[in-house]
Amino acid sequence: MQMFNAETRLAKERELNKYFTHSTEYELDEYRASAMPQNVKDSLVDIMESPLGDKIRNGVDSTGSKIELTQSLYEESAFQASGNQVYYGDVDTFNARGITMHQTMGTLLAHEIGHTQSYMANYSFVPSPGTNSNENWTVTNAEDIYRAYKGLPLRRNYDN
Ligand SMILES: [Zn+2]
Repeated sequence: MQMFNAETRLAKERELNKYFTHSTEYELDEYRASAMPQNVKDSLVDIMESPLGDKIRNGVDSTGSKIELTQSLYEESAFQASGNQVYYGDVDTFNARGITMHQTMGTLLAHEIGHTQSYMANYSFVPSPGTNSNENWTVTNAEDIYRAYKGLPLRRNYDN
């Protein structure tokens, strides 16, 4: 059974290549393709198994655009999304900002993936990006779906 589980795990990690790319920002707005770190892989495998998974598969398949995970050059710009690009950084540094309820790499990536064009393509209406209603929409339609799947407290509102 051990070997079966290891193979299943590999298949799940291999599936990530169909839906995500990975890069590192080495100069402001300059990116280089790079290998996805294990903690990012683990969180994405988890997200793909959650109810967000089929929305990501469907969104990427229908738009033809993979979601690009980018390791931010600066922690201040980590955990933001633009177009189909998601910037991430260190989770402990993010939590130390103390501006929201406790976050994990999974909850942060679920939220930012909710902002991507490929994810939003699943919905006929999404409030304009950059607005507070868009943030609340993303909390409800992406982050909290993942939080519920993980049994984590729901954020409910972007202010939390
Ligand atoms: Zn957001």
